Amino acid sequence: MSLKPSLTGLDQARIIERDEHPISRKQISPNTLKVLYRFKETGFHAFLVGGGVRDLMLGNKPKDFDIATNATPEEIKRLFKNARIIGRRFKIVHIRFGREIIEVTTFRAHHDPQNEIADDASRRQIRGLDSAHSSSGMILRDNVYGDIDQDALQRDFTVNALYYTVDHFRILDFSTGMEDLDKKEIRIIGDPATRYREDPVRMLRAIRFSAKLGFSIEESTQRPFDQLGHLLNSVSRARLFDETLKLLAGGHAAVTFEKLRNFHLGPYLFAPTLEAMKQVELPWGKLIDLALENTDKRLTMGKSVTPAFLFAAILWPVLKLHLTQPVSPGMNRHQHFIQAANQTFLEQLNYTAIPRRVTSVSREIWELQYRLERKNKRSIEAAFSHPRFRAAYDFLLLREQAGENLGALGQWWTDFQNGDTKRKIQMITAVSRPSKRRRKRT
Ligand code: ATP
Ligand code: MG
Repeated sequence: MSLKPSLTGLDQARIIERDEHPISRKQISPNTLKVLYRFKETGFHAFLVGGGVRDLMLGNKPKDFDIATNATPEEIKRLFKNARIIGRRFKIVHIRFGREIIEVTTFRAHHDPQNEIADDASRRQIRGLDSAHSSSGMILRDNVYGDIDQDALQRDFTVNALYYTVDHFRILDFSTGMEDLDKKEIRIIGDPATRYREDPVRMLRAIRFSAKLGFSIEESTQRPFDQLGHLLNSVSRARLFDETLKLLAGGHAAVTFEKLRNFHLGPYLFAPTLEAMKQVELPWGKLIDLALENTDKRLTMGKSVTPAFLFAAILWPVLKLHLTQPVSPGMNRHQHFIQAANQTFLEQLNYTAIPRRVTSVSREIWELQYRLERKNKRSIEAAFSHPRFRAAYDFLLLREQAGENLGALGQWWTDFQNGDTKRKIQMITAVSRPSKRRRKRT
């Protein structure tokens, strides 16, 4: 048996006893409890941390549970056969129970970028020893392990740095998390500018949590946004895509989008859209707002949302702007559309990656807008039997709700879907224009 490191750093915490906080074990998923107890039985220390504790403190249902421990990723893997180490930049362990994934991280230590070139002898004092910063101070890798108090100071916001333990069911607060929960404030831990230089995505996370929790962003936490927002340009497009999905598919997309714009961070994710909205007069900003509100409503009702629909809405003004360009000679309307859609995605890809599985569906939703114009029997049938019909129809309704005059097209499709076969045939006949061949014969 290896000797388990004892837990140091506890003396730095304010301890909130069982009867001084509202969290009960019943609110924690059985699998999470199983993991916490397994660590305890095997001599390690493990805590519920992050959104799990924060949301339970606020009386909300956590989205998932994160655990922090003094066991290393390798030790965790040995303890749980369903564990998998993922990530390189920031090693974490996923313990999977069917559909539930519990994210476990080893306590991080503070590490000064200056020390990265320290000699081997001094580096050997630290466990993990794998960290790297860019010249601007951005954390490239962060796998230096430490004590719980150090771990707390590496977390982003005070309300995300509360630790719950099954040992006496206490909460440990190493910063001002409890106080800020009361004040309803998102406050970054440490020096704001340094923390944003280490990881610019923290600025987006501040917006996300502020929108989700209805908290304000504390003054010194928001002050650097204007000056340091541009650091988001150096974050990988793939990570920005992931973060964008969290911003928009977290149930508070409408408020989040508004806050992103108010805090001047919108252009680092959606510059093409915001630019296009300035240039075009039609109500496409309204369309985006409605799409985001609908998304939030769907999520509240437990329905799913597709990123493709969101991107179709957000990029609609950009597409429309490109479509106002004159059609090149020799190009038909469909080719013109393809070119405009390609350009739209290409511009957005400068800001966020978007996987092809997403763009291809957004493209179909756009393309179907033309087919829904009901030119003839064939196009009506093709649109109706298309796998994206429902999404395209929803999109059409949004366009009308936003103020586009489409001659009650949405209502036509609503009636069409509700009608029986006989009614459908009647409706098709009523709007179908005779085909060219038939026109010639008559
Ligand atoms: P939710 O899961 O509800 O979106 P969360 O607070 O649990 O919110 P996660 O992204 O799951 O957020 O991260 C878990 C915890 O890890 C956070 O609460 C925070 O303590 C820490 N954390 C995550 N990302 C960062 C970051 N970029 N910088 C510092 N700490 C972070
Ligand atoms: Mg979480």
